[in-house]
Amino acid sequence: STQLPLLAATGLCKSFGGIQAVKEANIEVAQGSITGLIGPNGAGKTTLFNLLSNFIRPDKGRIIFDGEPIHQLQPHQIAQQGLVRTFQVARALSRLSVLENMLLAAQKQTGENFWQVQFQPHIVAKEEKQLKERAMFLLESVGLAKKAHDYAGGLSGGQRKLLEMGRALMTNPKLILLDEPAAGVNPRLIDDICDRIVTWNRDEGLTFLIIEHNMDVIMSLCDRVWVLAEGQNLAVGRPAEIQTNPQVLEAYLGQ
Ligand code: ATP
Repeated sequence: STQLPLLAATGLCKSFGGIQAVKEANIEVAQGSITGLIGPNGAGKTTLFNLLSNFIRPDKGRIIFDGEPIHQLQPHQIAQQGLVRTFQVARALSRLSVLENMLLAAQKQTGENFWQVQFQPHIVAKEEKQLKERAMFLLESVGLAKKAHDYAGGLSGGQRKLLEMGRALMTNPKLILLDEPAAGVNPRLIDDICDRIVTWNRDEGLTFLIIEHNMDVIMSLCDRVWVLAEGQNLAVGRPAEIQTNPQVLEAYLGQ
């Protein structure tokens, strides 16, 4: 179709000292898709996520999100436009309750203090009722409603990933970048996480870009998969094409 992609990055470059982590990389994420980003260890996937969410600045390149250039914006401004991310290591605050973590995510959306970690109850109080309802609805949908008043620190690895997704959803995003949603998760919970992603994609029209080493997850979820190797684009295609692409197989075997 001729529809513009929701996210399109072209010619992204990033070096750290002498290491070129990302070299002229391109990526597109179609509106309404679940798109995968794979590659061997050190391929530059996390660096690309950091560039797309502007946690680090590209040396070169352009990023267009929802029709607007975003490579000059701050991470909190990008989040306000509807692009949020999760982290490989979930960032829930262990000494706050699960519900407080959700409310904090919504609060962060609104201001300068976006990535600071203090919890400011007076700000939450303003919109408390509405936010709490939204938070409880989302906790219900990730299966954590019964844990709402427990400390986040007591959650399992898989539950933390679900909370991380709930927190991302509190910002009402259009696109969520998920960094290894299945890593360190009990295999029984992995199916749950995949089901949530499919449901949010189908029912709420949410678009996903997912980094994941678990190929079963990538193959079952994704419409389209981008492959990075040594910071460069190696291949893009449907999961079945990628799975049998000789260059992709070689890049993984060569590790
Ligand atoms: P993995 O699958 O192991 O998480 P990845 O594909 O996410 O790997 P990156 O973490 O983006 O890869 O790393 C790409 C390259 O850039 C690696 O060689 C890494 O050592 C290097 N790199 C990443 N961040 C930094 C940094 N802050 N300083 C120096 N080098 C870095």
